[in-house]
Amino acid sequence: MNLFDTLNLKPELMQAIQALDYDQPTEIQTAAIPALMAGRDVLGQAQTGTGKTAAFALPMLQRIDPAERVVQGFILTPTRELALQVTKAFETYARFQPIRVLAVYGGQPYGKQLHMLNDGVQVVVGTPGRVLDLLQKKNALDLSNVKFLVLDEADEMLKMGFIEDVETIMASAPENCQKALFSATLPNEVRKLAEKYMHNPLQITIASKTLTVINTEQRFYMVPERDKFAALVRLLEFEPVTNALIFARTKIRTAELADQLISAHYSAEPLHGDLSQAARESALERFRRGHVRVLVATDVAARGLDIQGVSHVFNYDLPFEAEDFVHRIGRTGRAGASGVAISLVTSSELFRIRRIEKMTSQPMLMSKIPTEIEIIKKRETEFEDAIVERLAIEKYNQELELVRKLTAAGYDPQEIAAAALQMLKQQKKYARIESVGAVDVKTKPGKYARDSKPRRVSRTDRAKGSPRQSHEQGMVRLMFGLGKADAIRPQMVVGAIANEARIPGKAVGAITIQQHQTYVDVAEEFAEKVIRKLKRLEFNGKATQLKKS
Ligand code: AMP
Repeated sequence: MNLFDTLNLKPELMQAIQALDYDQPTEIQTAAIPALMAGRDVLGQAQTGTGKTAAFALPMLQRIDPAERVVQGFILTPTRELALQVTKAFETYARFQPIRVLAVYGGQPYGKQLHMLNDGVQVVVGTPGRVLDLLQKKNALDLSNVKFLVLDEADEMLKMGFIEDVETIMASAPENCQKALFSATLPNEVRKLAEKYMHNPLQITIASKTLTVINTEQRFYMVPERDKFAALVRLLEFEPVTNALIFARTKIRTAELADQLISAHYSAEPLHGDLSQAARESALERFRRGHVRVLVATDVAARGLDIQGVSHVFNYDLPFEAEDFVHRIGRTGRAGASGVAISLVTSSELFRIRRIEKMTSQPMLMSKIPTEIEIIKKRETEFEDAIVERLAIEKYNQELELVRKLTAAGYDPQEIAAAALQMLKQQKKYARIESVGAVDVKTKPGKYARDSKPRRVSRTDRAKGSPRQSHEQGMVRLMFGLGKADAIRPQMVVGAIANEARIPGKAVGAITIQQHQTYVDVAEEFAEKVIRKLKRLEFNGKATQLKKS
């Protein structure tokens, strides 16, 4: 049975839903639509990707009388992009009714907005600054006939310092009009706003867990702050990246990072609040169309935007709030497709990983930055594949003529091919492979501190080979009484020690796993800390104790 049929929506709305091929209402829609249709206020904790726009748009459109050319529905959004996105959604849902929807936001000339408002529109979607202007200075927007008012991404409006404007705007609508407030998080100020302006709202929470992370593989890489860019470039090249959304902490960092990426021959654009309206819209559009592969965004600029089908989300900087992390990775792994979320983590941020793991109920795997050798190997393989593909096409008669000419002149065909390939390679614009050093802690320059060695590989190799008796210089050998028989794997050991004792992964050296015990080398300066913190270790439900070997 289609649950949309049970919602008593107008035939015109059902027609739009069918045209969109929506199968069933989403969780937030199932909960919010009946309440809103019954006239109740709703306080919804949900974010982009949950179908929250339709959850308020459908009941709002149900209540709007197309014959009345006054503003009956009003939606306030924190950003222009979200205003445009919501407007687009409304236009899609209202396409079988003569309902006019207008987006009003800053950075746009007033002329057209004033003209449309004058002409009569039923739904207005706007950002606080421009809405306030139209209400107060221009006297062009009249909210006195509003039947239904929505605050979308209320927490973002709070973060952006709009809360006073929001209050003024809310007070301009009739006191008894129906209200819905949607917010990804519910900080106190948002709750207070709800208490002040809403009547006995039905509170709906869509747990963040169910939102996003199901199809997302999460990995993190320990890197010193100064080597983040080098690490990012390596990962962008090594991972099967179709398109990527990279999150950085500040506007300046997004702009700088986008510039650096462009210099490294990536098609990248920044997305932050300081860019002109036109620049943001066109960046987003180019990204959607696939003309730009990498978008570098701040949380605020990306929040609420419907950017779908992102193969990789990179957290160039970890967010301060674990919840923001969930928002970020919500961009990938959507709609059944799987995605990858990669975080670059400095040693002082390791504790955040634990919090994020708790929040998402998913483990994050500590992984190894691909080495220069691995990257070069990948380039070679791709180059070889491209040649084989070209050979299959067999359209190189002109070139063949040249080869024949050179062969007749006494050159060896193999040498000719090699010279041509070398010329081609030199023309290829590969990103420079910069070195990625040890994590930002004062460590002795022991072997573990160098990245040029494929660390995990060497560990595994050692684990497979004969156990070494002596440990490396600057390292202390520790051991515990579980081994192969207990399905211990090197990755588990590094993860447990680095995370629990909060030491950099690179301070963990060689690991030797025997049948019933495991030996692990730890940098001297961390050894005491590790023993202290890991008195009790647990792997696969079996407890053990870490001690000096
Ligand atoms: P939102 O969370 O409102 O940004 O919506 C996220 C995406 O889900 C949009 O592309 C919507 O078109 C889509 N969507 C909303 N409701 C449904 C539904 N019931 N079934 C399938 N897709 C939906």
